[in-house]
Amino acid sequence: MDFDQREFEKKMKDVREKLQESVVVPEQLKRTDRMKFRCYPGIGCFTKCCSGIRINLTPYDIFRLKNSLGLSAHDFLMKHTVPGSIDGTPLPVVILKMQDDEIKSCPFVTPEGCTVYSDRPVTCRYYPLGMALMKTHNKGTGEDFFIKIKEDHCLGHNETKEWTIDEWRADQESDLYDEMNNDWMEVVLKAKTLGFVEFGQKSLDLFFMVSSNLDMFRDFVFNSKFLESYEIGPEVIEKIREDELELLKFSLKWLRFTMFGEGDFMVREDAKNQARERLLAAKEASLKERREREEKLLSKTPEEVLKEADGEE
Ligand code: SF4
Ligand code: SF4
Repeated sequence: MDFDQREFEKKMKDVREKLQESVVVPEQLKRTDRMKFRCYPGIGCFTKCCSGIRINLTPYDIFRLKNSLGLSAHDFLMKHTVPGSIDGTPLPVVILKMQDDEIKSCPFVTPEGCTVYSDRPVTCRYYPLGMALMKTHNKGTGEDFFIKIKEDHCLGHNETKEWTIDEWRADQESDLYDEMNNDWMEVVLKAKTLGFVEFGQKSLDLFFMVSSNLDMFRDFVFNSKFLESYEIGPEVIEKIREDELELLKFSLKWLRFTMFGEGDFMVREDAKNQARERLLAAKEASLKERREREEKLLSKTPEEVLKEADGEE
């Protein structure tokens, strides 16, 4: 099947509605397409794009930012984020908390530029390409599409420096961010595609923990029955214990497995048996409770039942 024009146009419409009024019609681009753009300190619009925006933070964004700021995951989340959900899904996400000034400035912007520039979120790295469609995928050719957002205030489009989309992405290190977030993005894209699927609260809680709080995930892995539940080699356990980035990559792979059964995690036989036993025990307990309720009800006279009903009113 070729590129789905109707799906693309629908997404375009969503993007136009969600972006600010000054946005000119987004342009669809392939990796090899070229665009003229340059952004540098001293340009007339410098930092004008760093206020009044919504930045959903990906797991790798949080990893880089919290370490750059020397904060624990918990402290970073408390200080710099507000809760939200990913468009078109019930999946929880954290959003970078803007300042409480008139223009809702980013907490990291100064007149001299971004104070976390080398660890800035992937949304900032993509600009002027849109995050919303960055993974719009042509199933027929396996080709990714991107959109260019042209906002009136952004003078970078008037510059003569030319890039292919791939060159721009490499320059901004968005390739690296995409690679690190890949398993997470697959979960998000699948949730969007299967919009009708309802996730249980447990799945949403796990998604939130893995997406935003690596410290909590570490605790979950090493201080619960997690390691007894899967076939995980000692060298992997050692790696994720010692190396936080390895733990992040592992957590996102596991998220994909636990939410959609994708990937090569192996649940241990004894864990499967225990889970089956737990399920059976829960079913039996619920049946027993129901039987006891029915027996109690049947042992009462109609007068007793009516009296109880009156008392409840
Ligand atoms: S993180 Fe940096 S680049 Fe991104 S909006 Fe804030 S100041 Fe601008
Ligand atoms: S508005 Fe455009 S050119 Fe100006 S600082 Fe932001 S990205 Fe760079």
